[in-house]
Amino acid sequence: MTARILVVDDIEANRKLLKTRLMSEYFEVMTARNGQEALEICARERADIVLLDVMMPGLNGFEVCQRLKSDPKTYHIPVVMVTALDQPSDKVYGLQAGADDFLTKPVDDVALITRVKNLTRLKRLNDELLARVASSDQLGLGETIARLSNSPGTGGRVLLVEDHPRAAKRMVDTLAAEQYVDVEIDPSQVAARLAQTAYDLLIVSLDLEGADGLRLCSQVRSNEATRNLPILIISDDSDNSRLLRGLDMGVNDYVKRPIDRNELLVRVRSQIKHKRFSDQLRETLQTSVDLALTDPLTGLHNRRFFENHFDINFEQSKKQGKPFALMVLDIDHFKSVNDTYGHDIGDAVLKVFAQRLKKFTRESDFSCRFGGEEFVLLMPNTTLEEGFLMAERLRLKIAEEPFDVGLPQGPLPITASVGVAAYEEPSDTRESILKRADTALYRAKQEGRNRIAAGMLMAKTA
Ligand code: GH3
Ligand code: MG
Ligand code: MG
Repeated sequence: MTARILVVDDIEANRKLLKTRLMSEYFEVMTARNGQEALEICARERADIVLLDVMMPGLNGFEVCQRLKSDPKTYHIPVVMVTALDQPSDKVYGLQAGADDFLTKPVDDVALITRVKNLTRLKRLNDELLARVASSDQLGLGETIARLSNSPGTGGRVLLVEDHPRAAKRMVDTLAAEQYVDVEIDPSQVAARLAQTAYDLLIVSLDLEGADGLRLCSQVRSNEATRNLPILIISDDSDNSRLLRGLDMGVNDYVKRPIDRNELLVRVRSQIKHKRFSDQLRETLQTSVDLALTDPLTGLHNRRFFENHFDINFEQSKKQGKPFALMVLDIDHFKSVNDTYGHDIGDAVLKVFAQRLKKFTRESDFSCRFGGEEFVLLMPNTTLEEGFLMAERLRLKIAEEPFDVGLPQGPLPITASVGVAAYEEPSDTRESILKRADTALYRAKQEGRNRIAAGMLMAKTA
């Protein structure tokens, strides 16, 4: 997993040191000598992570971080503050400026690589989600995301697995001011608790008496339901090899004993903040995908959905030698509905039409609004003859019961004409099938409307 890291430090020796270590892990490294240069590079080039020295002449690290985090073009780039002094207040300032993580000088190798890898993974995931959101974004979702990325990461639900009562109490005392913390002393109960409550973070002590904390982490990671739950481990200062194994299996972060209260607070907040951001992004993406494939007036699938699904069904039919039919429905004299009763009544007719279409077709069929007053029904596993019968049934369900659209004079009689076609031979394409359905529809209109017609290959009709 490679990434482009921007190292910002006013001292050349520091830049070189970080650069060498990162390059030995095959990261690509860019360097900047001051805050201004860092901002210019971020504006010009892709940076996946910024390692930012705090004390620099001119713009200091906090100011640079704040600028990056308030620019919509750069707010999603993870920033790691590199603090010279182990000053708790630096971490607080950094967090207020929007920093994602911290490293203390002299920079520890394990810490450096862990944090960089972890943030790279997170950024990759978020980038992918962001790109997909952006490509279907007509709702200003970017703003929601920007707001979220500035959320403080407090008020989360945390499950702490620790069987030393005093150690547990100390951590709870620290965290309770900002998070809701439950303690579990029995590791075998963790799975059940995670299934019960939607936690934002799991904290696992690696020094449990009764169980192997790492095994617990690995179980949580491999369980589908908790795959995305952030895990933070508490590890003994001497325990580097177990710590590294934990990080390899996807543990997100760690705090070493003796626990620095501020560090614990900051890391917990940061994990919760990241989780909320990714959750929201995933949810937003789902909504925007739904929106992009749905017709807002009728709630049916839209043309874009139709085109995707047509291709998928068509390919499947071809491969599996199964039949596949579709019908095109067009409301008769719809223009005169609009002209006589107004556009709103026209809309109401379209809605009722869509309801009938859903109600009187099968679960496995896809009803789509193709555009205007034209609808398409995709019918997998359906022959032309079956499609023909379905079309006739649907036509009757529309014509037999006038549409209740709230007119004082009562329900409005509505009819539709339907063209049916099916996948009939290997040389068929999406275009050829649609063309046959369209031609059939045209014929139904020509022959007087409120009727159905099937488009068949000449070979079959002959
Ligand atoms: P035919 O029987 O030949 O299909 O005649 P028609 O009047 O139904 O067909 P035409 O294509 O002439 O007119 C379709 C009308 O549908 C014209 C357009 O203004 C109207 N229309 C398209 N989309 C909408 C919509 O979303 N809402 C409303 N109310 N009307 C729409
Ligand atoms: Mg029409
Ligand atoms: Mg029309």
